[in-house]
Amino acid sequence: MRSGRHFLQIPGPTNTPERILRAMHRSVIDHRGPEFAELGLGLLRDLKPVFQTEGRVVIYPASGSGAWEAALVNVLQPGDQVLMYETGQFSTLWKNMATKLGYDPIFIAGDWRRGVDANLIADALAKDTDHKIKAVCVVHNDTATGITSDIGAVRAAIDGAAHPALMMVDTISSLGSIDFKTDAWGVDVVVAGSQKGLMLPPGLSFNAISEKAWAACQAGGDRRSYWDWRDMMTPNDAGYFPYTPATTLLYGLREALDMLAGEGLEQVFARHERHASATRAAVESWGFEILALNPDERSNSLTAVLMPDGQGGDALRAEILDGFDMSLGTGLNKVADKIFRIGHLGDFNDLMLMGTLSGVEMGMIRAGVPHQSGGAQSALKYLADHRI
Ligand SMILES: *Cc1c(COP(=O)(O)O)cnc(C)c1O
Repeated sequence: MRSGRHFLQIPGPTNTPERILRAMHRSVIDHRGPEFAELGLGLLRDLKPVFQTEGRVVIYPASGSGAWEAALVNVLQPGDQVLMYETGQFSTLWKNMATKLGYDPIFIAGDWRRGVDANLIADALAKDTDHKIKAVCVVHNDTATGITSDIGAVRAAIDGAAHPALMMVDTISSLGSIDFKTDAWGVDVVVAGSQKGLMLPPGLSFNAISEKAWAACQAGGDRRSYWDWRDMMTPNDAGYFPYTPATTLLYGLREALDMLAGEGLEQVFARHERHASATRAAVESWGFEILALNPDERSNSLTAVLMPDGQGGDALRAEILDGFDMSLGTGLNKVADKIFRIGHLGDFNDLMLMGTLSGVEMGMIRAGVPHQSGGAQSALKYLADHRI
């Protein structure tokens, strides 16, 4: 047995605050009863400001991958082309899903160190004169690489090409931690999940749906049942769901939305930006490279750190778990063992960040990973110099 608290600093699931844990510690109620309707209506209403949309948001009892699938099957038909962009493992998985479901993804290759180049989207759309491409799908914050892409630039590329494709964006590791403007950026389908910026356990996922996507859903779509947006609408209007919802997680969601509204979304984004900047200051002081090459694409919800040559990220992570009871994110697929990832999103404060960065620095000493000392000190200084 260990004493003290485990540090869960993977980039999701994130630390679930006590307030949310307590809110979930309740008996399950009748999901067709009047008390539930009040809960359901309030959630469906109060999710909208978090997505910065006036449109509809639907909730699935599913992990984020479920909402990926829902986004595709509700608007696409078998064989439809979708334009996707490789920013890391999560965009790759979404592309693989599109292939498995019988769609035809065009995957713009990336090097896992840069975000979406909107010019390449514009080029692909300009070539598609007979509008075979039905959707452009990008990941706002690729959690595997710690890279945040400019979604406004993608919108501008689609508009510039005067192309009718729908725009879909995965915000699973950015919603509620990095500014995301569904309506202002004209995003047709947003994909989100519960276990990252929303601070909940895994098990809920979301789609925000534009008028245009809703029209595409009614006009076409694929064979679908569980994910069908149309089945959600009538029950949702009364605060209910077409099947049994994850009632306990919804109690938690109520609390999470109250916490985000209480802090204020602008403050939430500023807090993540500040903790990310302090983390980057630490990484630079250690003499390590951040995977994201462009400074303006570096994620505010996690930092992916490149290991020096000949040093494995997984051995360092194992040493840190063993010595200091802290979990850090592993490198996935193309960057397996080459990086480790520090999650600094969700329910988080200065001292949690300092505990995290101290654990990384102590882990490097313990594992014999060569580095310059003083990274944690640099983060301290950054925090002291940038008070909010
Ligand atoms: C976590 C994550 C996913 C996968 O979500 P699951 O809940 O594991 O299905 C997809 N995309 C991004 C960007 C993620 O961070």
